[in-house]
Amino acid sequence: MPAFPFSEANPIQYPGPPPKSSDVVIIGGGVIGVTTALFLARRDIPVTLVEKGRIAAEQSSRNWGWIRKQGRDADELPIVIEASRHWRQLAEECGEDIGLKQTGVTYLASSDDKMAGFEEFMKIAAAHKIDTRLLNAQETAGLIEGMSGSFKGAMTTPSDMRAEPWVAVPALARLAAREGVKIVENCAARTLEISAGRVSGVWTEAGHIATSSVLLAGGAWSSLFLRRHGVSIPQLSVRSTVAATEPMPEIHAGAAAADHIAFRRRQDGGYTLAPGGGSLLYVGPDAFRHATKYFPALMANPFGTRYSPAAPAGYPDSWATPRRWAPDSQSPFERMRVLDPAPASSGLRSIERNFTRLFPQLGRVRIKASWAGMIDAMPDVVPIVDRVQAIGGLIVATGMSGHGFGIGPGIGRVVSDMIQGNEIGHDLTRFRLSRFYDGSAIRPGPAL
Ligand SMILES: Cc1cc2nc3c(=O)[nH]c(=O)nc-3n(C[C@H](O)[C@H](O)[C@H](O)COP(=O)(O)OP(=O)(O)OC[C@H]3O[C@@H](n4cnc5c(N)ncnc54)[C@H](O)[C@@H]3O)c2cc1C
Repeated sequence: MPAFPFSEANPIQYPGPPPKSSDVVIIGGGVIGVTTALFLARRDIPVTLVEKGRIAAEQSSRNWGWIRKQGRDADELPIVIEASRHWRQLAEECGEDIGLKQTGVTYLASSDDKMAGFEEFMKIAAAHKIDTRLLNAQETAGLIEGMSGSFKGAMTTPSDMRAEPWVAVPALARLAAREGVKIVENCAARTLEISAGRVSGVWTEAGHIATSSVLLAGGAWSSLFLRRHGVSIPQLSVRSTVAATEPMPEIHAGAAAADHIAFRRRQDGGYTLAPGGGSLLYVGPDAFRHATKYFPALMANPFGTRYSPAAPAGYPDSWATPRRWAPDSQSPFERMRVLDPAPASSGLRSIERNFTRLFPQLGRVRIKASWAGMIDAMPDVVPIVDRVQAIGGLIVATGMSGHGFGIGPGIGRVVSDMIQGNEIGHDLTRFRLSRFYDGSAIRPGPAL
């Protein structure tokens, strides 16, 4: 079976050295870092993006490729509506086929409880005038030819889209580089330099970059980076397994999920498949530290996550991962350039079994590649997008909680304006960092 296409062995596309100074430094070359950098470059702001491994090699290439408004938290929805516009425009501007297609997203309901959850979302959808609608059992049965099983109904959003993550974020990075972003791969940011309470530079493994403005968009590594500077965020990461099939007949052009299987048609004629739920949390020091904040999410979905007592060596919340290091010594970031978890064999078996059960007419599923990604989760399933009050000049955009690909260019535009001190155009109160410490109750967003 071919290996996942992104690894440390891939040639470096953006060699250093980094510049000695830059107006803005972005830490992390996933969809959030790349699109923020692109929007800044379009305002002629000198920006340097440092990536410890390879562009998009972590979550931003490993995801399912769903660009959905459906099932979103009410406060995320306006940003993802904006993001959908950006996706369309960027897909044209980048001059490469990123597989962007408006083929819809559908959730199939096997219980009345599920339908009740969909009905809740319909109120949010109506407030934002999106085209989400509910289907009854009969309409659902006729939705996808040959689909077995009986469903109570479904929720579907025809205007939702899909794109190929392996292709899309590297293509956006190439566009950003053409428009003036200085990207440096194999370049971990080790620490911030802080002078009189403000950022004055970033120490990377390839030297110092003087700057007064830093965006941390480090995905699953953000909490570790911030903690080194005395800032605690309750971010944990969970492993999620995915597989891609060999080309198969087209039964459905869009993306859909039932209880035990999620599938999306791929540009290459196969499907991207994932087991419903079954993500794995490696319990480390952060998991203990933040356990109480995760109780509401845990109670809402008690069997949604499995646990393992120890993360593999070098993972962000592994017991042995150092929590302190000096700017001139190796940091945990460059020790693991690409976080590449092994897919769960039980997850792969479940994918094959459940996809075949749902579409028996397709016969045996032939998997051509499988992989896993570490999702950076927050207790309320929505991100942090905020200035760090304790450190002037530092902004954090992280904890996208398993749905940051679709909303990515929207967050990128928002953060680029935040960096410039402009009007944002959206209410970001829900995404403030202080919500975890100001006595607010944890209010989980829809885990749909
Ligand atoms: C299996 C799976 C399925 C998903 N499906 C979907 C989906 O269908 N739709 C959707 O919208 N979202 C989905 N997501 C979520 C989505 O992929 C993420 O939310 C999104 O990619 C996060 O982007 P990011 O830029 O914040 O982080 P990442 O893509 O993780 O990028 C962070 C980058 O920062 C780098 N970095 C970290 N620390 C440092 C440092 N100190 N110095 C330099 N570089 C550093 C890392 O190497 C990494 O490349 C899925 C995620 C997974 C894992």
